[in-house]
Amino acid sequence: MNARVPLSITPEDKARAYDVVARVTNETAGRLAARLAKETRGETLFSAGDRGRYATDASIYQVMPVGVFVPRTVDEARTALDIARDLGVPVIARGGGTSQCGQTTGAGLVIDCSKHVRQLIRVDADRREAVVEPGIVLDHLNAQLKKTGLWYPVDVSTSAQATLGGMAGNNSCGSRSIAYGNMVHNVLGMEAWTSDGALHAFGRFEDATGTARELGERIRQLAEDLAPDIDQRWPKVLRRVAGYNLDVFRNQNERPYTRDGGVNLAHLLVGSEGTLALTKSLTLQLAPLPRHKVLGVVNFPTFYKAMDTAQHIVKLGSDGLLTAVELVDRTMIELSMKNPAFAPTVKAAVIGRPDAVLLVEFAGDDKTALVRKLGELVALMGDLGLPNSVVQLVDEGAQKALWEVRKAGLNIMMSLRGDGKPVSFIEDCAVPLEHLAEYTDQLTQVFRRHETRGTWYAHASVGTLHVRPILDMRQQGAEKMRRIAEEAAVLVRRYKGAYSGEHGDGLCRGEWISWQFGPRISEAFAEIKRMFDPIGLLCPNRIIDPPRMDDTRLMRFPPSYRVIPLKPALDWTAWDVQNDAQTEKATAPGTGGDPAGGFAKAVEMCNNNGHCRKFDVGTMCPSYRVTRDEKHLTRGRANTLRLALSGQLGGEGLLHDEVREAMELCVSCKGCKRDCPTGVDMARMKIEFMAQDARANGTTRRQRLIARLPDYVARASRFAGLLNLRNGIPWLAKLGEKYLGISARRSLPAFRADHFFASGVKSATREQVLSSGRPVVLFVDTFNGYFDSENAHAAFKVLQAAGYTVHVASKEKPDGKHLCCGRTYLASGLVDEAREKAQELIASLHPFAARGIAIVGLEPSCLLTLRDEALALGLGTVAEDVSRHAMLFEEFLAREAANDRLERLRHALRPFEGKLLVHGHCHQKAMGAMPPVMEALKLLPGAKPEPIESSCCGMAGAFGYEAKHIDASMAMAELSLLPAIRAVPDATIVADGTSCRHQIHDGAQREAIHVAKLLADHL
Ligand SMILES: Cc1cc2nc3c(=O)[nH]c(=O)nc-3n(C[C@H](O)[C@H](O)[C@H](O)COP(=O)(O)OP(=O)(O)OC[C@H]3O[C@@H](n4cnc5c(N)ncnc54)[C@H](O)[C@@H]3O)c2cc1C
Ligand code: SF4
Ligand code: SF4
Repeated sequence: MNARVPLSITPEDKARAYDVVARVTNETAGRLAARLAKETRGETLFSAGDRGRYATDASIYQVMPVGVFVPRTVDEARTALDIARDLGVPVIARGGGTSQCGQTTGAGLVIDCSKHVRQLIRVDADRREAVVEPGIVLDHLNAQLKKTGLWYPVDVSTSAQATLGGMAGNNSCGSRSIAYGNMVHNVLGMEAWTSDGALHAFGRFEDATGTARELGERIRQLAEDLAPDIDQRWPKVLRRVAGYNLDVFRNQNERPYTRDGGVNLAHLLVGSEGTLALTKSLTLQLAPLPRHKVLGVVNFPTFYKAMDTAQHIVKLGSDGLLTAVELVDRTMIELSMKNPAFAPTVKAAVIGRPDAVLLVEFAGDDKTALVRKLGELVALMGDLGLPNSVVQLVDEGAQKALWEVRKAGLNIMMSLRGDGKPVSFIEDCAVPLEHLAEYTDQLTQVFRRHETRGTWYAHASVGTLHVRPILDMRQQGAEKMRRIAEEAAVLVRRYKGAYSGEHGDGLCRGEWISWQFGPRISEAFAEIKRMFDPIGLLCPNRIIDPPRMDDTRLMRFPPSYRVIPLKPALDWTAWDVQNDAQTEKATAPGTGGDPAGGFAKAVEMCNNNGHCRKFDVGTMCPSYRVTRDEKHLTRGRANTLRLALSGQLGGEGLLHDEVREAMELCVSCKGCKRDCPTGVDMARMKIEFMAQDARANGTTRRQRLIARLPDYVARASRFAGLLNLRNGIPWLAKLGEKYLGISARRSLPAFRADHFFASGVKSATREQVLSSGRPVVLFVDTFNGYFDSENAHAAFKVLQAAGYTVHVASKEKPDGKHLCCGRTYLASGLVDEAREKAQELIASLHPFAARGIAIVGLEPSCLLTLRDEALALGLGTVAEDVSRHAMLFEEFLAREAANDRLERLRHALRPFEGKLLVHGHCHQKAMGAMPPVMEALKLLPGAKPEPIESSCCGMAGAFGYEAKHIDASMAMAELSLLPAIRAVPDATIVADGTSCRHQIHDGAQREAIHVAKLLADHL
């Protein structure tokens, strides 16, 4: 087979470009992988799963790469470029892969700089400049800059995962671009390799030498020759990111690219989407962090009025204090109002029932001046006929809460179930502000004509409003998309706007470049591409010779997309629905036509936005945080599952080894369930995978030993002394490691004969609790019952001290065993056994739930199973009834305290002295159960609990005990939990999770305690 790809693709070949590349990959891919492995220390990822995981970004497209290379150093990126050139394989540079237009999908070698190539090389605070490697993430950069009082102000919404290389590639723009401009306005220089492997420094034109100078001269000539076309065709708006920035030599932007009006050659690379050069480093212009911010929330009776008013509001920005004017429309306001957590914030910001609000932010160092600006805004609105329409937020906490609501509203919108999804393709057309009202009005009518709708939001300040019409890409979505795009283009032209105003061109908008700029400028773009990359190695068929946006062969969900039939173990019917594009109403559960019973549709909820790559707050995703591998990321797992379920990994479907590998390090923390904008619940998906795997391949000895613990723990406790020898005799531990895979480096929870269930605790009878005025049922799980029994005793004592009649849940017909939620079985994929356990527990608890009696549990993962997985086991309405009354010990106390029913307990508790750190179990965090923990602790006079900002502790049930996982487990704990504990040696540590306490013991040699125990100790 010919190893060389025909890189100069003829017009005839254009339509078949991807096939052409794909045809030559078998042999070439092998040689490419072999050379990369031999000549670098980087990661060479060529498996079907790896390629599949890099075949998509946050767009609707999917193109299989030949392979993926993750360089360890920036110079290895260059080595990879050289090898790819030798073998004629195109190169696609990639950062976080959050592009919305398919920029990072391509049939070549993907080079992912985000894992290792991410150093902040240099900061010059005096000159307000920083030099960075391309893989550094914006938030990480800004965190490192904070101490200098500076920041990099291109604040894209994806700041937690977007890399500077990717931001430069796309010419990204932040919410505050009205104050700071786009990427192009904030890059001072770039070092980059052209496809021949030569490194060039691109900076100020007058200082340029060598090839960079030559390239600059030739492009200057092009710009001069095309001056009339540029003047006539170039959009005169701030937000224009299409094509190449030929206008560096003839500025057309509202804001000059440089402060002194000079030319910077690096700006030619900004927005070039990896098609001209591979970036080695970037020199960035930093800005001082503003000390204060104020926010005016302007309420509008109609959407049209809001849009029409934006042009007047921006005039308040002549002194540079206006930093954002962001739209939130009624749909989003109402969605947020439905969320109890957000409702108070929204209510405080809106007046009556506005059709839209504009969030108008002023920022600077002088707070008085900012408050004066708010006054000007109020006066302006009065002049425009809207007196009393502004809610003024001066407190930064209130402002932050409102920005959070805006983000959450978008998330709710994105979580629409069914095949119709909000699709990004005209989401960032930019029009001059004086036409914004007309443009949005007309485009809304276009949507209506095509029987769909879109919710509007975002950057009113710069005429770039985001909107995603709902389309079903499997059912004529591509044709509809094209028609809507064409009609939107007419409007953009009518209002002299830019078709591509923020998210770049990629596969989606490349064909609109010649529409926007005309044939002569387009030919100049092609000439620029030939100057930089004459062999067409870098991201071919992007910007130049792009495919049609509606070429379904390039899509993730083409009409031919099929799911392999599968009988799921869990109930996924809630996802198996279709929706109405205009009303967003979903059909009944189970009617969506998913051959996998809804499981495939749940997996397909991942739209690849990359939010799970964040590191800062929240829980998602601990495995990615320790490995930084796409494979160990929620997105990577969802993509692997999607590919497997649709047969794209091979006939094994879900049972493909790639799936097993991707699931391996998922600790089922449910961080994604809470933090993923579209609600991808990988913990539940892992149970489904384990169940399918167990069905087909059976379970291991270790899995059965762990799963069946609730069944044999009572008997085993009688031999506690003997069994606990394993913890004291190293060779026994080693034997356990050899035969069971349980790490010899871990001590195991100690069995005890004097466990809670054997202690003769005076539980109220079922009859007593049912007739009591202050009833509560205590569900004691395996771990607090048999191992950490003091917690069960403590909870019993505290509840009694608070005056409750406490019934310890037990079997109606005693059989020597306790009631169990089934969690350990679920973790091993033994869903049928788990169902049996949960069914028995639920049946036993239901009489209490039916009477509205609280069912209180201590172990987060056990109790919360009743509110989560138990509802997916097909147990009917009884499970729902019980779930409504199942609560954690702290949730119960917090509820009762809020209703003034804990006075007796308050008086009985002695003051707490000292520091108090709280580590939340990840299921507590995922289910929003952390605030009650804090409330419960505050019952102790003098207690000032502080939460530890941590992800999962890494123990995650049995995960951390397993020999093959102990290192990953400890690495997760070391991310933030253990350092936070070590930093306060004299603090009391509260952790409700049994595994969390164990991890803290093993990792920091400190004893953490359950809330119940701490309270009981103070009685
Ligand atoms: C929910 C959501 C919200 C978004 N909000 C915004 C927003 O507010 N503003 C905005 O502008 N965009 C936004 N985007 C789009 C996207 O997040 C940004 O464009 C982001 O800057 C891309 O960064 P990345 O690291 O993911 O780049 P990638 O997607 O990985 O790459 C982007 C481009 O840069 C090129 N590239 C990457 N590294 C290199 C390199 N070393 N050398 C040469 N070329 C390289 C790639 O080939 C590609 O063409 C949003 C996307 C999503 C999903
Ligand atoms: S898993 Fe969720 S957060 Fe991650 S990319 Fe998919 S949708 Fe986004
Ligand atoms: S459950 Fe936890 S580890 Fe698994 S994908 Fe979700 S966030 Fe990551």
